[in-house]
Amino acid sequence: MDRRGNDAPAIGIDLGTTYSCVAVWKHDHIQIIPNDQGNRTTPSCVAFSDAERLIGDGAKNQVAMNPANTIFDAKRLIGRRFSDSKVQDDIKLWPFRVIQGPADTPKIVVSYKGEEKELSAEEVSSMILGKMKETAEAYLGKVVKDAVITVPAYFNDSQRQATKDAGAIAGLNVIRIINEPTAAAIAYGLDNKSDITCKITVLVFDLGGGTFDVSLLTIAKGGTIEVKAVAGDTHLGGEDFDSRMVDHCAWEFKRRWNKDLTGNKRALGRLRCACEKAKRILSCSIQTSIEIDGLHEGIDFSMKFSRAKFEELNMSYFDKCIATVNACLSDAKMKKSCVNEVILVGGSTRIPKVQCMLQECFERKELCKSVNPDEAVAYGAAVMASKLSGNNDKRVRDLILLDVTPLSLGQETKGEKLTVVIPRNTPVPTKKSKEFHTCHDNQSHTTISVYQGERARSKDNHLLGEYTLSGLPPAPKGITKFRNSFEIDNNGILTVTSEILSTRKRKKVTITNENGRLSKEEIERMIEDADKYKQEDQEYMKKAAAANALDDCIYDIKNMIKSMEHGERLKKMKKAVDYTTDWLDHNQAPSLDELQHMKEHLKAVCMPTF
Ligand code: AMP
Repeated sequence: MDRRGNDAPAIGIDLGTTYSCVAVWKHDHIQIIPNDQGNRTTPSCVAFSDAERLIGDGAKNQVAMNPANTIFDAKRLIGRRFSDSKVQDDIKLWPFRVIQGPADTPKIVVSYKGEEKELSAEEVSSMILGKMKETAEAYLGKVVKDAVITVPAYFNDSQRQATKDAGAIAGLNVIRIINEPTAAAIAYGLDNKSDITCKITVLVFDLGGGTFDVSLLTIAKGGTIEVKAVAGDTHLGGEDFDSRMVDHCAWEFKRRWNKDLTGNKRALGRLRCACEKAKRILSCSIQTSIEIDGLHEGIDFSMKFSRAKFEELNMSYFDKCIATVNACLSDAKMKKSCVNEVILVGGSTRIPKVQCMLQECFERKELCKSVNPDEAVAYGAAVMASKLSGNNDKRVRDLILLDVTPLSLGQETKGEKLTVVIPRNTPVPTKKSKEFHTCHDNQSHTTISVYQGERARSKDNHLLGEYTLSGLPPAPKGITKFRNSFEIDNNGILTVTSEILSTRKRKKVTITNENGRLSKEEIERMIEDADKYKQEDQEYMKKAAAANALDDCIYDIKNMIKSMEHGERLKKMKKAVDYTTDWLDHNQAPSLDELQHMKEHLKAVCMPTF
């Protein structure tokens, strides 16, 4: 591999709740990069065991055997607090343990090589990002540094910051965070460039594994993509549909056998896998069955599942999706008839009922399925990555992206009110200011509490950060004024500056969400840990290869023995094979050196000419 790395192209990564995808601009077009298993998407899953760490397909494949140490859904935790009601609801369904860490951060507890480890959501996400980086490096033969990472449009500031931190821990220079539906619109725009002869309006309906986004955008002939409004739910997707199916099966099990399996993590994990498979089948068949041997207390479970039942269980979620589409249109003050294309993105848009309800909502308009729902986001991210790295191709160079902030930003004022400084759907980057004044006589300082959300009472919104503005000159209440400026950059990340107007004293604060965000030191420690994990993975792979080579050697010699005449040499060979097999059986954790030595010894005894 070319370790200079200076000419490696920037990559685009779709870091999904359930699957991730990586793409790059190469040979004048975007390539979706397959992983080491040949798959174009990789499960966003990390597993730990006594022997190794697995990421992606390997982790997902062993989930039923190792449910407590197989982590998925890290995106549902990222940038959230442990006490968040959504986190609490999820914890009840996850087979792995999540505890309350410092400053109310959630920590995932796993057992790795016999030791208990506490991981943050950023660390788990960084492992998935690291895997995507390696996938790209294997394909390009170069060390990759720069990346554009996508996030749901409806992610708040803390979730964006935390995703950026995850990129840094993975050793990536995150050149831009872009919104998933916007990335999908880039993919659509590039694919249909020649057909776009005038400005068109598109609605991107992005329903993935864990998040739901709606974006209303215009795409102009020259390549300018302008987001008009976004709406969504960062906690709605295929996983929720799976959970309703799991609950239903658990209820049916209880009804039939009078036994509650909800405390049995292994059973829940197996049931979830089976339900997810059944859900996919129900997108093309109207009936399927779920069958699991020895699900709980040795009882086999088998039940029929119809598409109608699946739809009935999830109808409230589907209704919510349609209500969100209507809210987005009304926010943009746009009529449905003005929408030229409805683009489907995300695996869950394959659900027939979702498509049907959406089509009805748009007066039976044909839905656009020309972009690949699993790959469009990574595709768009890679186009953006290429543009930001100076790609001169006209299709990329002319692309201009004008996005909006999904949620209102403001600060708490008297009476626990949220005073909005930047309203939702304001184009970004942006800077807006508001003047405030003191509330008490001779007030010397004030606390600035910055919130993001749409609720009138400050506490009902998401607290991004708090700081104290001190040094206010003594004066009767209402006289001393200060101006707070809120600035959102291209990544959707916020900086707040306070200025006392009479003294011109300034305080600039990047809202670091100190209640939940990793400190610089923690990120540095995690970068070191990531290197350690990587080295351990490499050592493990070497050891696994050596153990395989020894097994192969034993197998070959056993075959040779079969065709040999009795004699001294045969006896010697048999003894050596038995000794090695016995050694392997009784040595649970041999070192690489020992394995290699055993193979050399066996070969020297049995195949002296080699
Ligand atoms: P994404 O986050 O876009 O990769 O979407 C992943 C989600 O899509 C998971 O919850 C999958 O179970 C779901 N999914 C993928 N294919 C299908 C399908 N054919 N029918 C229903 N859901 C699907």
